[in-house]
Amino acid sequence: MRDCVVIGGGPAGSAAATVLGRAGRSVLVLEAARFPRFHVGESIVPAATSLWKSIGLWEKLQPTMFARKGGADFLIADGSREERFWFARYLDERFHRVLQVDRAPFDTIALAHARASGAEALEGCRVTEVTFLEPGFEVTWKDEAGTTRTERARSLLDCSGMKCLLGKKLGLRKLVPGTTKVALFAHYENVKLPEGDRAGNTEVIAAEDAWYWMIPMTIEPGGRNTSSVGVVIDRTVRDAWRGEPLEMMERLFEASSVVRERLAPAKRLSPAHVEADFSIFSTGFYLSQLHAVEAAESIARALSKRDRVTGADLAKPARNHFQKIGTYTRFVRAFYTQPWYDIFLSDAKSPRVRKAVVRVLAGDVAGMNWYLWIFFAVLWAQKKWGIQPVVRRPRVTGALEFPSTART
Ligand SMILES: Cc1cc2nc3c(=O)[nH]c(=O)nc-3n(C[C@H](O)[C@H](O)[C@H](O)COP(=O)(O)OP(=O)(O)OC[C@H]3O[C@@H](n4cnc5c(N)ncnc54)[C@H](O)[C@@H]3O)c2cc1C
Repeated sequence: MRDCVVIGGGPAGSAAATVLGRAGRSVLVLEAARFPRFHVGESIVPAATSLWKSIGLWEKLQPTMFARKGGADFLIADGSREERFWFARYLDERFHRVLQVDRAPFDTIALAHARASGAEALEGCRVTEVTFLEPGFEVTWKDEAGTTRTERARSLLDCSGMKCLLGKKLGLRKLVPGTTKVALFAHYENVKLPEGDRAGNTEVIAAEDAWYWMIPMTIEPGGRNTSSVGVVIDRTVRDAWRGEPLEMMERLFEASSVVRERLAPAKRLSPAHVEADFSIFSTGFYLSQLHAVEAAESIARALSKRDRVTGADLAKPARNHFQKIGTYTRFVRAFYTQPWYDIFLSDAKSPRVRKAVVRVLAGDVAGMNWYLWIFFAVLWAQKKWGIQPVVRRPRVTGALEFPSTART
């Protein structure tokens, strides 16, 4: 019997397996895909740097060309306004910088690190069934040849990401109301990036009815870059579109002068991908890894004390996680339903409130604090009374209104 089976070898699964492997526990990772494989989720919060150092992954990332991020930049889609947030201006040294990632090589390096830390990891193995035993679990999976296998374990970590294997099985998965958005995105090379230190920053480009991201993933010494570029729209807009996703994505990119200019010298490297999206502020990756590490540490502690793991052993990491998720969910909701840009980009902001918001952008947040509550109160007041000038943003989805064949 294994100490732990981990379902999924993405950032969460590999981090958990690294912690358990380093603790001398027998751990098996079952990953459905073969790495390297494409995955979205490239903008990383600075809090991840300390986490990577704590699991020994930081050194393994040093030879890569992953872009260095020191802040987040917010722009209006027609170039009328921009605002930069440098982490070093507000936060202590631990949160000044992080690496952005291209997930295909990053996830491969992180899984190799888990193996080097003592974990066994099988790729091309899709978990199909989990049976709860008393005590422990039996996990069934199918390999690429179609052979079915099983393994028993004292503990189990579901790191299957949006597939949410156990959450679906147990009916625990909840969608955040009011955030039914769709993202269209692709990888590009040779995007025109901002000059100097800003080149590695994530850029959020705001329209009235959409927002775009530009995330440099790798920057070579000569300046060649690969970047993730995407646009997020309401699901209803996507549902009304009759053409190909690529054409929809390109029309929306064209509709912003900022995005158009950045993509002018660029070449697309991947097909257009479409995914339901509710993740902003670049936190999904970090929160999934942090929670996986905390859960794995609790499992390792429980096993060394009494050779079994109970629900109570995982209560603390679960509490921490839901507290953080609660804060970010509030932000995501406010981003989509409140006059976010009017306040976020306004000149009249208290440095403390601004610092509280930058902490959220950096992943340095445990739960809500007074200044965040003030930020939310000001958003509410803006919506009700219009206390600040409105930040005008162009509409871009009009670019989809003529039939898709009209252009070809
Ligand atoms: C459009 C979009 C944009 C995003 N942008 C960002 C961003 O910029 N920054 C950020 O921090 N986050 C972002 N995210 C979120 C981010 O992608 C996830 O939070 C992150 O990938 C979570 O890591 P994970 O390891 O939990 O899951 P994943 O990275 O999804 O890994 C799960 C792994 O489990 C495997 N798997 C699934 N089912 C099974 C099974 N049955 N058996 C075996 N293996 C299985 C999968 O193949 C996969 O490799 C974005 C998400 C979306 C949808």
